[in-house]
Amino acid sequence: MKVSERIQRMKESSTLAVAARAAALKKEGADVVAFGTGEPDFDTPSNIKEAAERALQAGQTKYVSTPGTVEARAAVAAKLHGENGIACKPEHVAITAGAKHALYLTLQTLIDVGDDMVLPTPAWVSYRPLIELAGGRCIEVAGTMEQGFKVTPAQLAAAMTPRTVAVILNSPSNPCGIAYTEAEIRELCEVIAAHPRAVLISDEIYEKLVYPEVDPGLRHFSPGSIPAMAERTITLNGLSKAFAMTGWRIGYVCAPGGNGTFMQELIKLQGQMTNNIPAFFMPAIVEAFSSRSAPQVEAMRVAFARRAAVVAELVRAIPRFRSVRPNGAFYSFPSIAACKGLTSPGGRRIEDAQTFAEALLLEAHVAVVPGGDFGACAADHIRITFATDEATLRKGMARIAEFTAALR
Ligand code: PMP
Ligand code: GLU
Repeated sequence: MKVSERIQRMKESSTLAVAARAAALKKEGADVVAFGTGEPDFDTPSNIKEAAERALQAGQTKYVSTPGTVEARAAVAAKLHGENGIACKPEHVAITAGAKHALYLTLQTLIDVGDDMVLPTPAWVSYRPLIELAGGRCIEVAGTMEQGFKVTPAQLAAAMTPRTVAVILNSPSNPCGIAYTEAEIRELCEVIAAHPRAVLISDEIYEKLVYPEVDPGLRHFSPGSIPAMAERTITLNGLSKAFAMTGWRIGYVCAPGGNGTFMQELIKLQGQMTNNIPAFFMPAIVEAFSSRSAPQVEAMRVAFARRAAVVAELVRAIPRFRSVRPNGAFYSFPSIAACKGLTSPGGRRIEDAQTFAEALLLEAHVAVVPGGDFGACAADHIRITFATDEATLRKGMARIAEFTAALR
């Protein structure tokens, strides 16, 4: 059967591919430690589940307004206003099938063929394929490990041209596990503000996972709260990470600019594509943003902060790895460059992160994501997800240490 050229050209999601591979090996009976997918191991807080159950039983099973109910959009807007300082009204919000769908809708609504999108890398694997699917050119700006996985204002300024329609910022970052400081974000925004045509897409899906335990005083900062950026920032977020709700597929996008025109056009696309996400999730969204969930969100954050410390120590103890200490999200992104050219106990030659991850999975039964699809500057890195309990974390890290030490 025919397949369009643009879909043939598109890469599959390597994070999901690693997850599928690990699951298949597990099914065959292998004791695989999965450090692949970025997905909290916790269950969704019960008050949120109960809100959805009640709505389902009460018959909230019909179509609702495409971008979500008035109540759910108001809850998102109130959250963005109260917690993030973004001047957002309910009509600036669309609730989507995960933040991934919010990103897709945003890029399709924003990009014309040949437009430039500036992407600080290493960056999540789905940005480039979705930019290119929309017809955009992805301009990578390398935030290398040596510079703490952060791009500088000078680098950003050099990458921006009159053709630049947007910059994507993801802080805290997947795959780097680092958060920019407020001062750093303000400096980057000054560069963007000098280009009147460019908007900032701020992917804040990991906002609740910031660790002042690692960097005292560190806190999440939303660029959409800067007055000069208020009309030029599209904020993406969702419930997947903060509330351990990956399987529910609930994301949202907020675009206050242009008298709401951008959002109206985005909702037009959503209406032709998916309509609303499940109607009985709407009260669960309202519940998630209520004060009842906050202690549970904080308890998960504290657990992730502890794991971040454990993984940082275990990664540092591997002589052939070099890394930056994570202070956000649930990823460590060490360089395996010192392993290149060596051979594994099973006879596999390590050429890059791809061959390293392949040998590690087959010989040591630990799944990690190779860095290549996170950007050109990430080809020698692997992503270790620490969204798993401490015992599993220690078991997997011990295997990685042993495998890495045995390379000859
Ligand atoms: N942005 C980033 C940076 C991510 O890591 C992910 C992965 N889940 C998403 C967006 C999408 O999340 P979801 O679709 O589950 O809301
Ligand atoms: N974002 C998570 C990850 O990077 C989930 C999988 C995906 O959607 O990419 O692992």
